[in-house]
Amino acid sequence: MSTPQLRVERPEATFPTLSADQIARIARYGTRRHVRRGELLFDQGTENLSFFVVLSGALDIVRPYKGKEDLIVVHHPGQFTGEISLLNGRRSLARARVAEDGEVVELTAERLRAIVQTDAELSELLMRAFILRRMSLIKEGLGDVAMIGSQFSPSTLRLREFLTRNSHPYKYFDVERDPDAQAFLDRLGVRVDEMPVLICRGEVVLRNPTFEEVSDCLGFNVAIDVGVVRDLLVVGGGPAGLAAAVYGASEGLDVLVLETHAPGGQAGSSSKIENYLGFPTGITGQALAGRAFAQAEKFGASVAVARSAAKLLCKKRPFAVQLSTGDVVHGRSVIVASGAQYRKLPLARLAEFEGAGVYYAASEMESTLCTGAEVIVVGGGNSAGQAATFLGGYKKDPVTGELVPRTKHVHMLVRSNGLADSMSRYLIQRIEENERITLRTGTEIEALEGEHHLERVRWRNSTTGEVETRPIRHVFSMTGAVPNTVWVGGCLALDDRGFVKAGSDISAEELAAASWPLERHPYLLETSTPGVFVVGDARAGSVKRVASAVGEGSICVQLVHKILAE
Ligand SMILES: Cc1cc2nc3c(=O)[nH]c(=O)nc-3n(C[C@H](O)[C@H](O)[C@H](O)COP(=O)(O)OP(=O)(O)OC[C@H]3O[C@@H](n4cnc5c(N)ncnc54)[C@H](O)[C@@H]3O)c2cc1C
Repeated sequence: MSTPQLRVERPEATFPTLSADQIARIARYGTRRHVRRGELLFDQGTENLSFFVVLSGALDIVRPYKGKEDLIVVHHPGQFTGEISLLNGRRSLARARVAEDGEVVELTAERLRAIVQTDAELSELLMRAFILRRMSLIKEGLGDVAMIGSQFSPSTLRLREFLTRNSHPYKYFDVERDPDAQAFLDRLGVRVDEMPVLICRGEVVLRNPTFEEVSDCLGFNVAIDVGVVRDLLVVGGGPAGLAAAVYGASEGLDVLVLETHAPGGQAGSSSKIENYLGFPTGITGQALAGRAFAQAEKFGASVAVARSAAKLLCKKRPFAVQLSTGDVVHGRSVIVASGAQYRKLPLARLAEFEGAGVYYAASEMESTLCTGAEVIVVGGGNSAGQAATFLGGYKKDPVTGELVPRTKHVHMLVRSNGLADSMSRYLIQRIEENERITLRTGTEIEALEGEHHLERVRWRNSTTGEVETRPIRHVFSMTGAVPNTVWVGGCLALDDRGFVKAGSDISAEELAAASWPLERHPYLLETSTPGVFVVGDARAGSVKRVASAVGEGSICVQLVHKILAE
Protein backbone atom coordinates (compact mmCIF):
# COMPACT_ATOMS: atom_id res chain seq x y z
CA MET A 1 0.00 0.00 0.00
CA SER A 2 1.08 3.63 -0.60
CA THR A 3 2.54 5.99 2.02
CA PRO A 4 0.03 7.65 4.34
CA GLN A 5 -1.68 10.68 2.76
CA LEU A 6 -2.53 12.63 5.86
CA ARG A 7 0.05 15.34 6.50
CA VAL A 8 -0.20 16.73 10.01
CA GLU A 9 1.53 19.63 11.69
CA ARG A 10 1.73 18.18 15.22
CA PRO A 11 2.13 14.40 14.82
CA GLU A 12 2.65 13.64 18.54
CA ALA A 13 -0.59 15.42 19.49
CA THR A 14 -2.55 14.19 16.46
CA PHE A 15 -1.52 10.54 16.78
CA PRO A 16 -0.36 10.13 20.40
CA THR A 17 0.65 6.81 21.92
CA LEU A 18 -1.20 6.04 25.15
CA SER A 19 0.69 4.93 28.25
CA ALA A 20 -0.01 1.53 29.85
CA ASP A 21 -1.91 3.28 32.63
CA GLN A 22 -4.05 5.28 30.18
CA ILE A 23 -4.83 2.11 28.20
CA ALA A 24 -5.85 0.34 31.42
CA ARG A 25 -8.24 3.21 32.29
CA ILE A 26 -9.84 3.01 28.84
CA ALA A 27 -9.94 -0.80 28.82
CA ARG A 28 -12.11 -0.78 31.96
CA TYR A 29 -14.94 0.62 29.82
CA GLY A 30 -14.46 -1.67 26.80
CA THR A 31 -13.94 -5.21 25.61
CA ARG A 32 -10.70 -6.78 24.37
CA ARG A 33 -10.79 -8.76 21.16
CA HIS A 34 -8.42 -10.47 18.75
CA VAL A 35 -8.40 -9.22 15.18
CA ARG A 36 -7.06 -10.81 11.99
CA ARG A 37 -5.26 -9.20 9.05
CA GLY A 38 -7.76 -7.96 6.45
CA GLU A 39 -10.67 -7.69 8.92
CA LEU A 40 -12.78 -4.50 8.64
CA LEU A 41 -13.40 -2.82 12.01
CA PHE A 42 -15.58 -0.14 10.44
CA ASP A 43 -16.27 1.21 6.98
CA GLN A 44 -16.75 4.64 5.49
CA GLY A 45 -20.36 5.54 6.24
CA THR A 46 -20.64 3.33 9.35
CA GLU A 47 -23.08 4.74 11.93
CA ASN A 48 -22.74 4.26 15.71
CA LEU A 49 -19.02 4.03 15.30
CA SER A 50 -16.94 2.23 17.95
CA PHE A 51 -13.61 3.47 19.31
CA PHE A 52 -10.58 1.15 19.12
CA VAL A 53 -7.24 1.17 20.92
CA VAL A 54 -4.58 -1.03 19.32
CA LEU A 55 -2.93 -3.34 21.89
CA SER A 56 -0.87 -5.33 19.40
CA GLY A 57 -0.66 -5.64 15.61
CA ALA A 58 -1.48 -2.69 13.34
CA LEU A 59 -4.52 -0.98 11.84
CA ASP A 60 -4.72 0.86 8.51
CA ILE A 61 -7.11 3.80 8.27
CA VAL A 62 -7.98 4.13 4.60
CA ARG A 63 -10.25 6.09 2.32
CA PRO A 64 -12.07 4.00 -0.28
CA TYR A 65 -11.69 5.82 -3.59
CA LYS A 66 -12.56 4.63 -7.10
CA GLY A 67 -12.43 0.96 -6.04
CA LYS A 68 -9.03 1.36 -4.35
CA GLU A 69 -7.97 2.23 -0.83
CA ASP A 70 -5.90 5.36 -0.13
CA LEU A 71 -3.93 5.00 3.08
CA ILE A 72 -4.61 7.85 5.50
CA VAL A 73 -2.61 6.64 8.51
CA VAL A 74 -1.40 3.45 10.24
CA HIS A 75 -2.20 2.95 13.95
CA HIS A 76 0.37 1.01 15.97
CA PRO A 77 0.15 -0.43 19.53
CA GLY A 78 -0.95 2.25 22.01
CA GLN A 79 -2.62 4.33 19.31
CA PHE A 80 -6.35 4.76 18.82
CA THR A 81 -8.91 5.30 16.07
CA GLY A 82 -11.33 8.10 15.43
CA GLU A 83 -11.87 11.78 15.08
CA ILE A 84 -14.63 14.15 16.05
CA SER A 85 -17.42 12.05 14.37
CA LEU A 86 -17.03 9.61 17.24
CA LEU A 87 -18.48 12.13 19.65
CA ASN A 88 -21.28 13.49 17.51
CA GLY A 89 -22.42 10.11 16.25
CA ARG A 90 -21.97 11.05 12.61
CA ARG A 91 -20.97 8.48 9.99
CA SER A 92 -17.38 7.43 9.67
CA LEU A 93 -15.36 9.32 7.06
CA ALA A 94 -12.86 6.46 6.65
CA ARG A 95 -12.46 2.68 6.76
CA ALA A 96 -10.40 0.77 9.35
CA ARG A 97 -8.75 -2.42 8.14
CA VAL A 98 -6.52 -4.64 10.25
CA ALA A 99 -3.02 -4.60 8.75
CA GLU A 100 -1.38 -7.11 11.13
CA ASP A 101 -2.98 -9.72 13.41
CA GLY A 102 -3.27 -8.46 16.97
CA GLU A 103 -5.54 -7.37 19.77
CA VAL A 104 -7.71 -4.24 20.26
CA VAL A 105 -9.92 -2.74 22.95
CA GLU A 106 -13.32 -1.72 21.60
CA LEU A 107 -15.59 0.88 23.24
CA THR A 108 -19.00 2.18 22.24
CA ALA A 109 -19.24 5.92 21.54
CA GLU A 110 -21.33 6.28 24.69
CA ARG A 111 -18.57 4.73 26.85
CA LEU A 112 -16.01 6.94 25.13
CA ARG A 113 -18.11 10.01 25.92
CA ALA A 114 -18.26 8.93 29.56
CA ILE A 115 -14.44 8.89 29.60
CA VAL A 116 -14.04 12.35 28.06
CA GLN A 117 -16.57 13.74 30.52
CA THR A 118 -14.97 12.28 33.62
CA ASP A 119 -11.23 11.68 33.04
CA ALA A 120 -9.61 15.10 32.60
CA GLU A 121 -6.24 13.82 31.38
CA LEU A 122 -7.68 11.44 28.79
CA SER A 123 -10.28 14.03 27.80
CA GLU A 124 -7.59 16.55 26.89
CA LEU A 125 -5.50 13.99 24.99
CA LEU A 126 -8.43 12.47 23.07
CA MET A 127 -10.26 15.73 22.31
CA ARG A 128 -7.09 17.38 21.03
CA ALA A 129 -6.29 14.41 18.81
CA PHE A 130 -9.86 14.22 17.44
CA ILE A 131 -9.94 17.93 16.62
CA LEU A 132 -6.46 17.96 15.05
CA ARG A 133 -7.30 14.90 12.95
CA ARG A 134 -10.48 16.54 11.67
CA MET A 135 -8.56 19.73 10.86
CA SER A 136 -5.96 17.75 8.90
CA LEU A 137 -8.66 15.86 7.01
CA ILE A 138 -10.28 19.19 6.09
CA LYS A 139 -6.97 20.63 4.94
CA GLU A 140 -6.27 17.62 2.69
CA GLY A 141 -9.90 17.30 1.53
CA LEU A 142 -9.90 13.67 2.68
CA GLY A 143 -13.40 12.53 3.42
CA ASP A 144 -16.54 11.04 1.99
CA VAL A 145 -17.61 13.76 -0.42
CA ALA A 146 -16.44 15.34 -3.66
CA MET A 147 -17.96 18.45 -5.15
CA ILE A 148 -17.87 19.68 -8.72
CA GLY A 149 -18.89 23.29 -9.22
CA SER A 150 -18.02 26.60 -10.76
CA GLN A 151 -16.28 29.51 -9.10
CA PHE A 152 -18.86 31.77 -10.78
CA SER A 153 -21.91 29.94 -9.42
CA PRO A 154 -23.69 31.26 -6.29
CA SER A 155 -24.94 27.76 -5.46
CA THR A 156 -21.38 26.47 -5.48
CA LEU A 157 -20.28 29.12 -3.00
CA ARG A 158 -23.37 28.43 -0.86
CA LEU A 159 -22.57 24.71 -0.60
CA ARG A 160 -18.84 25.19 -0.12
CA GLU A 161 -19.63 27.54 2.77
CA PHE A 162 -22.07 25.00 4.18
CA LEU A 163 -19.50 22.17 4.19
CA THR A 164 -16.67 24.41 5.40
CA ARG A 165 -18.69 25.91 8.23
CA ASN A 166 -19.85 22.44 9.25
CA SER A 167 -16.16 21.42 9.35
CA HIS A 168 -16.76 18.65 6.85
CA PRO A 169 -13.80 17.68 4.62
CA TYR A 170 -14.43 17.64 0.88
CA LYS A 171 -12.52 17.60 -2.40
CA TYR A 172 -13.48 20.42 -4.74
CA PHE A 173 -13.12 20.34 -8.53
CA ASP A 174 -13.85 23.50 -10.52
CA VAL A 175 -15.19 23.12 -14.07
CA GLU A 176 -13.52 26.39 -15.00
CA ARG A 177 -10.08 25.05 -14.06
CA ASP A 178 -10.21 21.27 -14.26
CA PRO A 179 -10.95 19.75 -17.69
CA ASP A 180 -11.61 16.32 -16.12
CA ALA A 181 -14.38 17.85 -14.03
CA GLN A 182 -16.28 19.00 -17.13
CA ALA A 183 -15.77 15.60 -18.77
CA PHE A 184 -17.15 13.92 -15.64
CA LEU A 185 -20.24 16.17 -15.66
CA ASP A 186 -20.79 15.44 -19.37
CA ARG A 187 -20.68 11.70 -18.65
CA LEU A 188 -23.33 12.17 -15.95
CA GLY A 189 -25.41 14.39 -18.26
CA VAL A 190 -25.45 17.24 -15.70
CA ARG A 191 -26.97 20.49 -17.01
CA VAL A 192 -25.57 23.91 -16.07
CA ASP A 193 -28.58 24.65 -13.85
CA GLU A 194 -27.95 21.40 -11.94
CA MET A 195 -24.54 22.54 -10.68
CA PRO A 196 -22.91 22.05 -8.27
CA VAL A 197 -22.83 18.30 -8.04
CA LEU A 198 -22.03 16.49 -4.81
CA ILE A 199 -20.92 12.87 -4.71
CA CYS A 200 -21.42 11.28 -1.28
CA ARG A 201 -19.26 8.24 -0.47
CA GLY A 202 -18.72 7.71 -4.20
CA GLU A 203 -22.31 6.39 -4.38
CA VAL A 204 -24.97 9.07 -4.32
CA VAL A 205 -24.96 11.96 -6.79
CA LEU A 206 -26.80 15.09 -5.66
CA ARG A 207 -27.50 17.84 -8.17
CA ASN A 208 -27.62 21.39 -6.78
CA PRO A 209 -28.87 20.00 -3.46
CA THR A 210 -30.46 21.83 -0.53
CA PHE A 211 -28.67 21.93 2.84
CA GLU A 212 -31.16 19.32 4.13
CA GLU A 213 -30.34 16.97 1.24
CA VAL A 214 -26.60 17.32 1.84
CA SER A 215 -26.92 16.81 5.58
CA ASP A 216 -29.15 13.77 5.08
CA CYS A 217 -26.79 12.24 2.52
CA LEU A 218 -23.75 12.77 4.76
CA GLY A 219 -25.66 11.73 7.87
CA PHE A 220 -25.06 14.91 9.87
CA ASN A 221 -28.11 14.24 12.04
CA VAL A 222 -28.27 10.42 12.01
CA ALA A 223 -27.64 10.06 15.72
CA ILE A 224 -30.35 12.50 16.77
CA ASP A 225 -33.64 11.16 18.06
CA VAL A 226 -36.32 13.79 17.33
CA GLY A 227 -39.00 11.75 19.09
CA VAL A 228 -37.98 12.37 22.72
CA VAL A 229 -39.09 15.29 24.90
CA ARG A 230 -35.95 17.28 25.78
CA ASP A 231 -35.31 19.32 28.91
CA LEU A 232 -34.17 22.16 26.68
CA LEU A 233 -34.63 23.07 23.03
CA VAL A 234 -32.20 25.71 21.81
CA VAL A 235 -33.05 27.33 18.49
CA GLY A 236 -29.88 28.66 16.87
CA GLY A 237 -26.32 27.36 17.03
CA GLY A 238 -24.48 30.70 17.15
CA PRO A 239 -22.32 31.71 20.13
CA ALA A 240 -25.37 32.20 22.36
CA GLY A 241 -27.00 28.87 21.49
CA LEU A 242 -23.76 26.88 21.70
CA ALA A 243 -22.97 28.42 25.10
CA ALA A 244 -26.43 27.41 26.33
CA ALA A 245 -25.83 23.90 24.96
CA VAL A 246 -22.43 23.56 26.67
CA TYR A 247 -23.67 24.77 30.05
CA GLY A 248 -26.99 22.91 29.80
CA ALA A 249 -25.50 19.57 28.78
CA SER A 250 -22.59 19.81 31.22
CA GLU A 251 -25.11 20.38 34.01
CA GLY A 252 -27.07 17.26 33.12
CA LEU A 253 -29.84 18.65 30.92
CA ASP A 254 -30.94 16.80 27.82
CA VAL A 255 -30.35 19.48 25.17
CA LEU A 256 -31.24 19.63 21.48
CA VAL A 257 -29.94 22.52 19.37
CA LEU A 258 -31.60 23.28 16.02
CA GLU A 259 -29.47 25.12 13.51
CA THR A 260 -30.51 26.23 10.00
CA HIS A 261 -27.05 26.34 8.54
CA ALA A 262 -23.94 25.54 10.57
CA PRO A 263 -22.70 26.01 14.13
CA GLY A 264 -21.14 29.41 14.75
CA GLY A 265 -23.79 31.83 13.55
CA GLN A 266 -22.62 35.27 12.50
CA ALA A 267 -19.43 34.86 14.48
CA GLY A 268 -18.60 31.82 12.32
CA SER A 269 -18.38 34.11 9.30
CA SER A 270 -15.90 36.48 10.92
CA SER A 271 -12.34 36.42 9.61
CA LYS A 272 -10.95 37.29 13.05
CA ILE A 273 -12.53 38.07 16.39
CA GLU A 274 -10.09 40.14 18.39
CA ASN A 275 -12.11 41.33 21.36
CA TYR A 276 -13.20 37.97 22.79
CA LEU A 277 -11.66 37.41 26.19
CA GLY A 278 -8.75 34.99 26.29
CA PHE A 279 -7.62 35.28 22.66
CA PRO A 280 -5.10 38.13 22.65
CA THR A 281 -4.02 37.43 19.06
CA GLY A 282 -7.62 36.92 17.90
CA ILE A 283 -9.39 33.80 16.72
CA THR A 284 -11.22 33.10 13.47
CA GLY A 285 -14.96 32.69 13.82
CA GLN A 286 -14.66 29.24 12.25
CA ALA A 287 -12.12 28.08 14.86
CA LEU A 288 -14.18 29.46 17.74
CA ALA A 289 -17.33 27.83 16.38
CA GLY A 290 -15.58 24.49 15.79
CA ARG A 291 -14.27 24.39 19.36
CA ALA A 292 -17.61 25.38 20.86
CA PHE A 293 -19.38 22.74 18.76
CA ALA A 294 -16.93 20.02 19.87
CA GLN A 295 -17.37 21.14 23.48
CA ALA A 296 -21.17 20.96 23.25
CA GLU A 297 -20.96 17.46 21.78
CA LYS A 298 -18.39 16.32 24.33
CA PHE A 299 -20.94 17.04 27.05
CA GLY A 300 -23.62 15.17 25.12
CA ALA A 301 -25.74 17.97 23.61
CA SER A 302 -27.34 17.02 20.28
CA VAL A 303 -26.83 19.60 17.54
CA ALA A 304 -29.04 19.13 14.48
CA VAL A 305 -27.76 21.11 11.49
CA ALA A 306 -29.70 22.08 8.37
CA ARG A 307 -32.76 21.97 10.59
CA SER A 308 -34.78 25.19 10.79
CA ALA A 309 -37.40 26.09 13.33
CA ALA A 310 -40.44 27.17 11.32
CA LYS A 311 -42.92 27.73 14.16
CA LEU A 312 -42.96 27.84 17.93
CA LEU A 313 -46.04 26.14 19.36
CA CYS A 314 -46.26 27.63 22.85
CA LYS A 315 -49.82 27.07 23.98
CA LYS A 316 -49.35 23.53 25.33
CA ARG A 317 -46.68 21.98 27.57
CA PRO A 318 -44.20 20.55 26.72
CA PHE A 319 -43.43 23.24 24.12
CA ALA A 320 -43.17 22.18 20.52
CA VAL A 321 -41.14 23.54 17.65
CA GLN A 322 -42.20 22.70 14.15
CA LEU A 323 -39.29 22.33 11.73
CA SER A 324 -39.27 23.38 8.10
CA THR A 325 -39.03 19.65 7.25
CA GLY A 326 -42.45 19.18 8.91
CA ASP A 327 -41.04 17.28 11.93
CA VAL A 328 -42.04 18.50 15.37
CA VAL A 329 -39.67 18.41 18.36
CA HIS A 330 -40.65 18.86 22.00
CA GLY A 331 -39.00 20.45 25.02
CA ARG A 332 -39.87 21.41 28.57
CA SER A 333 -38.10 24.72 28.02
CA VAL A 334 -36.98 26.70 24.97
CA ILE A 335 -34.14 29.14 24.41
CA VAL A 336 -34.50 31.46 21.42
CA ALA A 337 -30.94 31.98 20.18
CA SER A 338 -31.72 32.52 16.52
CA GLY A 339 -29.73 35.75 16.33
CA ALA A 340 -29.82 38.13 13.44
CA GLN A 341 -28.71 38.36 9.84
CA TYR A 342 -27.40 41.08 7.60
CA ARG A 343 -29.70 43.64 6.16
CA LYS A 344 -29.87 43.48 2.39
CA LEU A 345 -28.98 46.44 0.22
CA PRO A 346 -32.07 47.85 -1.53
CA LEU A 347 -30.76 47.21 -5.06
CA ALA A 348 -32.77 45.98 -8.00
CA ARG A 349 -30.49 43.14 -9.11
CA LEU A 350 -29.14 42.16 -5.69
CA ALA A 351 -30.57 38.63 -5.69
CA GLU A 352 -28.92 37.85 -9.05
CA PHE A 353 -25.47 38.57 -7.65
CA GLU A 354 -25.72 37.12 -4.15
CA GLY A 355 -22.89 34.59 -4.05
CA ALA A 356 -21.78 35.74 -7.53
CA GLY A 357 -20.06 38.91 -6.43
CA VAL A 358 -22.12 39.95 -3.40
CA TYR A 359 -21.14 38.33 -0.10
CA TYR A 360 -22.31 38.62 3.52
CA ALA A 361 -19.21 37.14 5.10
CA ALA A 362 -15.54 37.95 4.71
CA SER A 363 -13.65 34.80 5.60
CA GLU A 364 -10.72 33.01 3.94
CA MET A 365 -13.19 31.24 1.65
CA GLU A 366 -14.62 34.41 0.06
CA SER A 367 -11.27 36.19 0.00
CA THR A 368 -9.71 33.51 -2.23
CA LEU A 369 -12.18 34.62 -4.92
CA CYS A 370 -10.86 38.20 -4.80
CA THR A 371 -7.08 37.76 -5.16
CA GLY A 372 -5.63 40.66 -7.17
CA ALA A 373 -9.05 42.35 -7.47
CA GLU A 374 -10.56 45.60 -6.20
CA VAL A 375 -13.38 45.00 -3.72
CA ILE A 376 -16.04 47.05 -1.96
CA VAL A 377 -17.04 46.73 1.69
CA VAL A 378 -20.36 48.41 2.52
CA GLY A 379 -21.10 49.44 6.11
CA GLY A 380 -19.66 51.46 8.96
CA GLY A 381 -19.93 49.03 11.90
CA ASN A 382 -17.31 46.78 13.46
CA SER A 383 -18.03 43.84 11.18
CA ALA A 384 -17.51 46.06 8.11
CA GLY A 385 -14.30 47.39 9.67
CA GLN A 386 -13.07 43.88 10.29
CA ALA A 387 -13.91 42.84 6.75
CA ALA A 388 -12.07 45.86 5.29
CA THR A 389 -8.91 45.31 7.34
CA PHE A 390 -8.97 41.58 6.60
CA LEU A 391 -9.42 42.07 2.86
CA GLY A 392 -6.88 44.89 2.87
CA GLY A 393 -4.35 42.64 4.64
CA TYR A 394 -1.96 39.90 3.56
CA LYS A 395 -2.08 36.12 3.19
CA LYS A 396 0.45 33.37 2.54
CA ASP A 397 0.73 32.42 -1.13
CA PRO A 398 -0.07 28.68 -1.17
CA VAL A 399 2.66 27.96 -3.76
CA THR A 400 5.57 30.25 -2.83
CA GLY A 401 4.76 30.69 0.87
CA GLU A 402 5.39 34.46 0.49
CA LEU A 403 3.06 37.07 1.98
CA VAL A 404 0.88 38.61 -0.73
CA PRO A 405 -2.01 41.13 -0.52
CA ARG A 406 -5.41 39.49 -0.14
CA THR A 407 -6.95 41.93 -2.62
CA LYS A 408 -5.67 44.77 -4.81
CA HIS A 409 -7.69 47.51 -3.10
CA VAL A 410 -10.63 47.92 -0.72
CA HIS A 411 -13.19 50.69 -1.19
CA MET A 412 -15.09 51.15 2.03
CA LEU A 413 -18.50 52.73 1.40
CA VAL A 414 -20.40 54.30 4.29
CA ARG A 415 -23.59 56.33 4.18
CA SER A 416 -22.69 58.58 7.12
CA ASN A 417 -19.95 61.18 7.27
CA GLY A 418 -17.49 59.11 9.28
CA LEU A 419 -16.84 55.98 11.31
CA ALA A 420 -16.32 57.47 14.78
CA ASP A 421 -19.88 56.85 15.98
CA SER A 422 -20.19 53.29 14.74
CA MET A 423 -16.80 51.55 14.84
CA SER A 424 -14.20 50.65 17.46
CA ARG A 425 -11.19 52.98 17.56
CA TYR A 426 -8.63 50.22 16.87
CA LEU A 427 -10.34 49.33 13.60
CA ILE A 428 -10.65 52.98 12.49
CA GLN A 429 -6.94 53.42 13.08
CA ARG A 430 -6.05 50.34 11.03
CA ILE A 431 -8.26 51.53 8.19
CA GLU A 432 -6.69 54.99 8.24
CA GLU A 433 -3.19 53.53 8.24
CA ASN A 434 -3.77 51.09 5.39
CA GLU A 435 -3.05 52.68 2.02
CA ARG A 436 -4.87 49.88 0.22
CA ILE A 437 -8.17 50.89 1.88
CA THR A 438 -10.04 54.00 0.71
CA LEU A 439 -12.82 55.22 2.96
CA ARG A 440 -15.64 56.82 0.95
CA THR A 441 -18.03 58.58 3.31
CA GLY A 442 -21.49 59.80 2.29
CA THR A 443 -21.46 57.17 -0.45
CA GLU A 444 -24.05 54.57 -1.42
CA ILE A 445 -24.22 51.93 -4.14
CA GLU A 446 -26.82 52.79 -6.79
CA ALA A 447 -26.61 49.83 -9.14
CA LEU A 448 -25.01 46.44 -9.66
CA GLU A 449 -24.33 45.37 -13.24
CA GLY A 450 -23.09 42.26 -15.01
CA GLU A 451 -24.10 39.17 -16.97
CA HIS A 452 -23.75 36.04 -14.83
CA HIS A 453 -21.40 37.51 -12.24
CA LEU A 454 -21.11 41.02 -10.87
CA GLU A 455 -18.94 43.05 -13.27
CA ARG A 456 -19.54 46.73 -12.45
CA VAL A 457 -20.74 48.82 -9.52
CA ARG A 458 -22.19 52.33 -9.69
CA TRP A 459 -22.03 54.49 -6.55
CA ARG A 460 -23.15 58.04 -5.70
CA ASN A 461 -21.69 60.54 -3.25
CA SER A 462 -24.68 62.17 -1.57
CA THR A 463 -22.75 65.34 -0.65
CA THR A 464 -21.26 66.15 -4.06
CA GLY A 465 -23.86 64.29 -6.16
CA GLU A 466 -20.97 62.72 -8.08
CA VAL A 467 -21.71 59.32 -9.69
CA GLU A 468 -18.96 56.84 -10.53
CA THR A 469 -19.01 53.41 -12.19
CA ARG A 470 -16.12 51.06 -11.52
CA PRO A 471 -15.29 47.59 -12.89
CA ILE A 472 -15.53 45.90 -9.47
CA ARG A 473 -16.60 42.25 -9.20
CA HIS A 474 -16.82 41.79 -5.43
CA VAL A 475 -19.03 43.57 -2.87
CA PHE A 476 -19.06 42.65 0.83
CA SER A 477 -22.35 43.83 2.31
CA MET A 478 -22.17 44.44 6.07
CA THR A 479 -24.91 46.89 6.88
CA GLY A 480 -26.51 45.99 10.20
CA ALA A 481 -28.80 43.20 11.18
CA VAL A 482 -32.45 42.15 11.31
CA PRO A 483 -33.62 39.52 13.82
CA ASN A 484 -34.36 35.89 12.84
CA THR A 485 -37.56 35.77 14.84
CA VAL A 486 -40.35 35.16 12.32
CA TRP A 487 -40.68 31.59 13.65
CA VAL A 488 -41.75 32.77 17.16
CA GLY A 489 -44.63 34.78 15.65
CA GLY A 490 -47.67 35.12 17.90
CA CYS A 491 -46.01 33.54 20.94
CA LEU A 492 -43.68 36.22 22.32
CA ALA A 493 -43.72 39.98 22.86
CA LEU A 494 -41.45 41.67 20.29
CA ASP A 495 -40.15 45.22 19.97
CA ASP A 496 -40.99 47.35 16.93
CA ARG A 497 -38.03 45.90 14.97
CA GLY A 498 -38.93 42.26 15.70
CA PHE A 499 -36.40 41.55 18.48
CA VAL A 500 -37.75 39.44 21.37
CA LYS A 501 -38.37 41.24 24.66
CA ALA A 502 -37.31 39.71 27.95
CA GLY A 503 -37.37 40.30 31.71
CA SER A 504 -38.08 43.81 32.93
CA ASP A 505 -38.23 45.11 29.33
CA ILE A 506 -41.68 43.53 29.03
CA SER A 507 -44.36 45.98 30.13
CA ALA A 508 -47.36 45.13 32.29
CA GLU A 509 -49.61 45.67 29.25
CA GLU A 510 -47.52 43.28 27.17
CA LEU A 511 -47.67 40.66 29.91
CA ALA A 512 -51.44 41.08 30.14
CA ALA A 513 -51.76 40.81 26.36
CA ALA A 514 -49.70 37.61 26.47
CA SER A 515 -51.89 36.24 29.31
CA TRP A 516 -48.83 35.83 31.58
CA PRO A 517 -50.14 33.26 34.08
CA LEU A 518 -47.77 33.59 37.05
CA GLU A 519 -47.55 35.78 40.16
CA ARG A 520 -43.88 36.47 39.54
CA HIS A 521 -42.49 38.74 36.82
CA PRO A 522 -40.45 37.11 33.99
CA TYR A 523 -36.87 36.25 34.99
CA LEU A 524 -33.94 38.14 33.50
CA LEU A 525 -33.89 36.51 30.03
CA GLU A 526 -37.41 35.07 30.14
CA THR A 527 -39.90 36.13 27.46
CA SER A 528 -43.62 36.83 27.83
CA THR A 529 -44.20 33.05 27.84
CA PRO A 530 -42.91 31.35 31.02
CA GLY A 531 -40.25 28.76 30.22
CA VAL A 532 -39.26 30.38 26.91
CA PHE A 533 -36.04 32.43 27.08
CA VAL A 534 -34.16 34.61 24.63
CA VAL A 535 -30.40 35.19 24.46
CA GLY A 536 -27.88 36.93 22.23
CA ASP A 537 -28.56 39.10 19.21
CA ALA A 538 -32.22 38.05 18.95
CA ARG A 539 -32.99 39.77 22.27
CA ALA A 540 -34.33 43.33 22.21
CA GLY A 541 -31.67 45.74 23.43
CA SER A 542 -28.85 43.16 23.37
CA VAL A 543 -25.22 44.16 22.90
CA LYS A 544 -24.30 42.68 19.54
CA ARG A 545 -21.08 40.98 20.58
CA VAL A 546 -19.78 37.42 20.83
CA ALA A 547 -18.94 37.78 24.53
CA SER A 548 -22.39 39.03 25.50
CA ALA A 549 -24.09 36.31 23.44
CA VAL A 550 -21.94 33.65 25.13
CA GLY A 551 -22.58 35.23 28.54
CA GLU A 552 -26.34 35.29 28.09
CA GLY A 553 -26.43 31.72 26.75
CA SER A 554 -24.45 30.56 29.79
CA ILE A 555 -26.40 32.31 32.55
CA CYS A 556 -29.72 31.46 30.99
CA VAL A 557 -29.19 27.80 31.89
CA GLN A 558 -29.50 28.70 35.60
CA LEU A 559 -32.93 30.13 34.87
CA VAL A 560 -33.88 27.03 32.90
CA HIS A 561 -33.04 24.91 35.98
CA LYS A 562 -35.31 27.19 38.02
CA ILE A 563 -38.33 26.87 35.77
CA LEU A 564 -37.85 23.11 35.35
CA ALA A 565 -38.05 22.89 39.15
CA GLU A 566 -41.14 25.15 39.39
C1 LIG B 1 -18.67 39.33 10.01
C2 LIG B 1 -18.95 39.55 11.47
C3 LIG B 1 -17.92 39.84 12.33
C4 LIG B 1 -18.16 40.01 13.70
N1 LIG B 1 -17.12 40.25 14.52
C5 LIG B 1 -17.31 40.37 15.85
C6 LIG B 1 -16.20 40.57 16.72
O1 LIG B 1 -15.06 40.66 16.30
N2 LIG B 1 -16.45 40.66 18.03
C7 LIG B 1 -17.70 40.57 18.56
O2 LIG B 1 -17.84 40.62 19.78
N3 LIG B 1 -18.77 40.39 17.75
C8 LIG B 1 -18.61 40.29 16.41
N4 LIG B 1 -19.68 40.13 15.57
C9 LIG B 1 -21.03 40.05 16.17
C10 LIG B 1 -21.26 38.64 16.74
O3 LIG B 1 -20.88 37.69 15.78
C11 LIG B 1 -22.72 38.46 17.12
O4 LIG B 1 -23.06 39.41 18.09
C12 LIG B 1 -22.94 37.06 17.69
O5 LIG B 1 -22.63 36.08 16.71
C13 LIG B 1 -24.38 36.87 18.13
O6 LIG B 1 -24.55 35.55 18.52
P1 LIG B 1 -25.98 34.85 18.56
O7 LIG B 1 -25.72 33.42 18.90
O8 LIG B 1 -26.88 35.63 19.41
O9 LIG B 1 -26.58 34.97 17.10
P2 LIG B 1 -26.03 34.52 15.68
O10 LIG B 1 -24.56 34.56 15.65
O11 LIG B 1 -26.79 35.35 14.71
O12 LIG B 1 -26.47 33.01 15.56
C14 LIG B 1 -27.81 32.65 15.38
C15 LIG B 1 -27.88 31.29 14.74
O13 LIG B 1 -29.23 30.89 14.67
C16 LIG B 1 -29.48 30.25 13.43
N5 LIG B 1 -30.92 30.39 13.12
C17 LIG B 1 -31.58 31.51 12.75
N6 LIG B 1 -32.88 31.25 12.58
C18 LIG B 1 -33.05 29.93 12.86
C19 LIG B 1 -34.17 29.06 12.85
N7 LIG B 1 -35.41 29.50 12.55
N8 LIG B 1 -33.98 27.76 13.18
C20 LIG B 1 -32.74 27.30 13.49
N9 LIG B 1 -31.64 28.09 13.50
C21 LIG B 1 -31.79 29.38 13.21
C22 LIG B 1 -28.58 30.99 12.45
O14 LIG B 1 -28.30 30.19 11.32
C23 LIG B 1 -27.35 31.25 13.31
O15 LIG B 1 -26.41 30.22 13.20
C24 LIG B 1 -19.48 39.93 14.20
C25 LIG B 1 -20.53 39.66 13.34
C26 LIG B 1 -20.27 39.46 12.00
C27 LIG B 1 -21.40 39.15 11.08
